[in-house]
Amino acid sequence: MMDTSPLSLAQALIRCPSVTPEEGGALTVVAEVLGDAGFEVHRPVFSAPGTPDVENLYARFGVGRPFLLFAGHTDVVPPGDPARWRHDPFGGIVEDGELFGRGAVDMKGAVACMMAAALRFLDAHPQFAGSIGFLLTGDEEGPAVNGTVKLLEWAHERGERFDHCILGEPTNPESLGDMVKIGRRGSLTGHITVQGKQGHVAYPHLADNPIDGMVRLLAALKGEPLDHGTQHFDASNLEVTTVDVGNKAANVIPDQARATFNIRFNDRWTPATLEAELRRRLAAAAGERVRYTLCLEPTNAVAFLTAPDSFGFLMEAIAAETGRRPKLSTTGGTSDARFIKAYCPVVEFGLVGQTMHQIDERVAVTDLDRLTAIYRRALGLYFSGDSAS
Ligand SMILES: [Zn+2]
Repeated sequence: MMDTSPLSLAQALIRCPSVTPEEGGALTVVAEVLGDAGFEVHRPVFSAPGTPDVENLYARFGVGRPFLLFAGHTDVVPPGDPARWRHDPFGGIVEDGELFGRGAVDMKGAVACMMAAALRFLDAHPQFAGSIGFLLTGDEEGPAVNGTVKLLEWAHERGERFDHCILGEPTNPESLGDMVKIGRRGSLTGHITVQGKQGHVAYPHLADNPIDGMVRLLAALKGEPLDHGTQHFDASNLEVTTVDVGNKAANVIPDQARATFNIRFNDRWTPATLEAELRRRLAAAAGERVRYTLCLEPTNAVAFLTAPDSFGFLMEAIAAETGRRPKLSTTGGTSDARFIKAYCPVVEFGLVGQTMHQIDERVAVTDLDRLTAIYRRALGLYFSGDSAS
């Protein structure tokens, strides 16, 4: 039997070198801890051509409803040069009240807190009527093909039906209790190619410079804001990320210009309505003159929003343990919540994100204890509506 304090669990996980797509022993630690506590544990492996096989974990305690699901990942980004770390990135060393290691906040620390909280809750309520689940992938920081998406489909086919999900990504900018993420913006990437006609700069009437056309098209895309934000979202934003001509000769008009842009969009748009708006703007700017193509990459990152009211139990637990009301936010990049939201309402709340993906990633040991207390209290509130239980 393993020591199930959040610190010991976090150390055990950090000591597994689970850089995506390696399992590194991390899911085995989770399987052992949850299995010992009476969870039914599954470890589906998914594969797809052109991507590495990925191990995943699904565990459930109980058969009844409601069903609260904890979600997350045990894979981590590479540590970079270990010599630049104050401590071994896979050593799980504690110094001055801080636990060092890759994944300390993103998000092995939070996985440890979820497990510790669930175990404490089950100790106090072995006969509770609902279900607690864990849905963990080893493919969040990588291509995200053989991870959460397939694991959710797999669970759904087995008849698993979740009522609420807490994803433990590091959501707090400064300190625990800062922020709960209740949605995320969508992401759409597009490529524009403008076709011109190569020629001598001294004879422009014999050529057609595609850069002129590209400038007009990009101006049309950036000219008017896409929107002015919605109740819970900032304004959508289009950024041109590269413009490429690759022309090395100062006396040649090039024949083609290419550009790429990415849009982070709010819940006013779907990828389809956004595409229609982009095409409308480009067509108007191009007129008869500019010959261009627009190619949009397929996206599974759609903007979504979870009604915060349905997570009152979590907000109350955070307030009780930290004395603070978290900001409800939809900022930041995409996360696996975009996949989970198709199956049940999901919000994200985890540790403080300041050192995530950095050298010397670390978490305060007191934060591990406090996040465990928050999750533990949330479980009590969720299953019995009683903050003392
Ligand atoms: Zn993460």
